[in-house]
Amino acid sequence: MMKNVIFIAPPSAGKGTVSGYLVKNYHYKHLSTGDLLREEIASGSRFGKELDEIISKGNLVSDEVMIELVQSKLKSFNSHEPFILDGFPRTLIQAKKLDEMLDSLGITNTIAVYLELDYEIALQRVLGRVSCPKCKKSYNIYFDEAKPKNGNVCDDCHIELVKRTDDNEETFSTRFHSYLDNASSILDYYRNHNMLTVVDASKNIDSVVNDVVDMIKEAKE
Ligand code: AMP
Repeated sequence: MMKNVIFIAPPSAGKGTVSGYLVKNYHYKHLSTGDLLREEIASGSRFGKELDEIISKGNLVSDEVMIELVQSKLKSFNSHEPFILDGFPRTLIQAKKLDEMLDSLGITNTIAVYLELDYEIALQRVLGRVSCPKCKKSYNIYFDEAKPKNGNVCDDCHIELVKRTDDNEETFSTRFHSYLDNASSILDYYRNHNMLTVVDASKNIDSVVNDVVDMIKEAKE
């Protein structure tokens, strides 16, 4: 069985694209905390409005809220399907709590994949990023291989692509620095637990996808 994957990556390292590939080809369940939060915002609820205030500034949602959200989702998963955690954990507290959750659910077969990317490349990718509101496929107007085929519409769904409100330079800087503040302790944590694999995310997206798939297959249980 394929291993469960925890992604640790700065914004725009390719988590979403790699996840899409794993879902399509290896029947992974994809749990993106960012997508869940954006759904809550789109619902127009009061809670969604509070989340919007936090996320549009590039700040992190509280550990309590995130842990609750992920816990209820993980419980609903069928134990025979591998899953991807995309966007969680983002703090050391979340990482430790996640371990407890996995333990109590009897889930062992899990690796952490670090998609390593520096600030300048991440920024350029973020500024060009657009995605399909329906299927969530991501495109990039600055990279030929990632451009939509016809203007600003999704290749598959043929509806207009949208830009995330937090994909601007100012918010990106806040998001990247908050990521850096937390990443090293999370990486140390997984390194010490022998769960960490590292992939160079500055390569083109197809290579990143291949490297991640190789890592998942090679990693020891
Ligand atoms: P993402 O789509 O993963 O880039 O997430 C978008 C935004 O949602 C982040 O910039 C945070 O504000 C919030 N968010 C997502 N996941 C988490 C998490 N695990 N902890 C705290 N905030 C989160």
